[in-house]
Amino acid sequence: MTIIARVALDLSLDKTFDYLIPPELAGQIQSGSRVKVPFGKRELLGSVMALLDHSPHSNLKLVLKVLGPRPLLIPQVMDLARWMADYYCCPFELALKSALPEAVRKEKSGWRAQLWVRWISPPGQIPKLTGRQREILKRLEEVREIPLKQFLQTTNSTAALLRKLECRCLLEIREKIQERDPYGDDIIIPSAPLELNPEQNAALGAISAALQNPARAGKFKPVFLLHGVTGSGKTEVYLQSIAKTLELGRGAIVLVPEIALTPQTVERFKARFSTGPLQTLVAVLHSHLSSGERHDEWQKILQGRARIVIGARSAVFAPVNPLGLIIVDEEHESSYKQEEAPRYHARDVAVMRGRMEQCVVVLGSATPSLESYYNARNRKYSLLEMTVRADDKKLPLVRVVDMRHEFRKEKGIPIFSQLLKSAIERRLEQCEQTILFLNRRGYASSLQCPKCGYVAGCPNCSISLTYHRQESQLRCHICGHTGQVPDLCPACRNPAIRFAGIGTEKVEEALRKLFPRARVQRMDSDILKRKNDYRLLLGDFRSGKIDILLGTQMIAKGLHFPNVTLVGIVYADLSLHIPDFRAGERTFQLLTQVAGRAGRGEIEGEVFVQSFTPFHPAIQYARRHDFQGFYEQELEFRQQLQYPPVSRVALLTIKGKIEEKVRFTAECLKRELEQRLSPFDGLVMAGPAPAPLARAETWFRYHLMLRIRQMSKLSQSLALELKNFKCPEEVSVTVDIDPVNLM
Ligand code: ADP
Ligand code: ZN
Repeated sequence: MTIIARVALDLSLDKTFDYLIPPELAGQIQSGSRVKVPFGKRELLGSVMALLDHSPHSNLKLVLKVLGPRPLLIPQVMDLARWMADYYCCPFELALKSALPEAVRKEKSGWRAQLWVRWISPPGQIPKLTGRQREILKRLEEVREIPLKQFLQTTNSTAALLRKLECRCLLEIREKIQERDPYGDDIIIPSAPLELNPEQNAALGAISAALQNPARAGKFKPVFLLHGVTGSGKTEVYLQSIAKTLELGRGAIVLVPEIALTPQTVERFKARFSTGPLQTLVAVLHSHLSSGERHDEWQKILQGRARIVIGARSAVFAPVNPLGLIIVDEEHESSYKQEEAPRYHARDVAVMRGRMEQCVVVLGSATPSLESYYNARNRKYSLLEMTVRADDKKLPLVRVVDMRHEFRKEKGIPIFSQLLKSAIERRLEQCEQTILFLNRRGYASSLQCPKCGYVAGCPNCSISLTYHRQESQLRCHICGHTGQVPDLCPACRNPAIRFAGIGTEKVEEALRKLFPRARVQRMDSDILKRKNDYRLLLGDFRSGKIDILLGTQMIAKGLHFPNVTLVGIVYADLSLHIPDFRAGERTFQLLTQVAGRAGRGEIEGEVFVQSFTPFHPAIQYARRHDFQGFYEQELEFRQQLQYPPVSRVALLTIKGKIEEKVRFTAECLKRELEQRLSPFDGLVMAGPAPAPLARAETWFRYHLMLRIRQMSKLSQSLALELKNFKCPEEVSVTVDIDPVNLM
């Protein structure tokens, strides 16, 4: 008899506790159930990890309560969380927390319930009623069932009056759950599968074969890397692969970067599965849902009514069961990496989940990450290539403009080159649309004194403040600190202090001056304040109310506007100068993605890339749409320096308020690790050194970087060593396995 529940509390203790199951709860608690238990003087919530028939501990306390009628965690996801805790060096409870959204894990039921009144046919003899009572019953008989509140209003009666009738069994008042649907107002027009072109067909064929062939004796089901140029019709391949999965009686998860999870994207999936024999609900999970909406979407998945889930990073933990397929669209996107603990990468978690549940994983991208392409080359993944646009549109012509030649003695360097300027003019005349891209918001990136070299910096962080003209203020993009713009240089009192570097606000101003009649819209996180702004602005752009859309990376992804024939990248070098070994890769990806927004309609597209380093390989390969070429030369560079994908990285960040202490701790830690991890072959340790962002939010930061061929064993030892390391009170150490952000 199982009478003991082993519980992981909602605390980060990395430890489980045993509780007795009282007889009245016997049979209601299973592995994965949420329970309330006493802990010291408090009562806490936790997840049941296992049921046991005896415990090594004595004097066990009783489980107080079980939440909900069924376990919220499915065993597969619990296993995945276990793996995650080990691999990413984080407390197990924290991994579980990622797997179960706040909206479903809390004590109070997340359903929205409402009282309804219902008419019931009178049981035999109708008792004597007043005229008013008869009138009310007659009204109810007409509508049969109606929300109580609404009924009270329309009949001008009181709840007490209805309760009286209820006592006499003439009507019924009861709670009904009302499910929220975040897309309930949208009109979905069903879509039929398209006829595939040969490349799409080949891709679908390979994926279908894998779907149909469940785990060939001991072999993992494959992971596919679908490398398809922008517009090659990857989404159609996803849709038809999902249809195959449903036919086989399984469900699917589609991961999309948060930023690309537009209503347009969601509708494409809903439209395909809204009718027909494969009809199912499509659940959507992203951060803009209300807590109630998230709860309802999640429950639809758990109950098996939604067999398809489309969502951002954390949707990889959705309780789809049985799961047949996971798709990771734009797999190279850095937003798949969570930047706080647990620092997991949703793509890598997807691959692991696929392996654990024997399902197919498809990673799709026009610009795969070096890691995934390397795995495909080494036959860890199967490579599927789609080289042409699905609708026979040509890839846009990309021209690189050397901005060094645009320098004018009297005016300095202009924001727009002659070529880009006249290209925009042409689009305005022809009533075609333009997208301009600059990956920096604000007006100017710094305030400098030309005389003494003073730069206005953040008092809390080691970066310069950005000037925002609209609010006429200096702002820190790390900690949000704001300051006034001084009239004189605070250091040498020179009045000729000036702004340097451009941001989207300044480009907007220049556009309005150059093209006074054009309808210009800026789109960055300073503009988008409310939940619906993004949707509304894109709607305006689609319906032609905007001529020029100017924005940050927010507009680089997944948008499909047939009337856009020109894309201009105002300053392509921005992402090249970041102190990160992936700077070239990021730039290549960004340029390719942005360029892919052009020429999606009948007219061929044109792209201008303005740059001060026009011959940089990342820019040149992007210009020629040459991923292979870029990959080859980039891999050579990574091999020379032993960086990923040829190695794995663990990045330790040591933080504290007193720099001396931070440095000292970092050095102690390094010495300790050098000793303890010496059995690891080929382990390279670099640092400690001040992080590129040496100070953030008043914390001094040091880095220690570990590189090794194989990570999984190292990360387990590392977790242990860090647990045992005696860290001074004022200093903290965090570890990031396979880091994406090296700042
Ligand atoms: P990707 O996701 O690879 O960038 P999309 O899936 O958005 O590309 O496809 C680009 C366009 O091509 C879409 O308008 C889509 O409807 C269309 N398309 C996709 N497959 C086909 C096909 N087989 N025949 C005709 N049009 C297609
Ligand atoms: Zn700051």
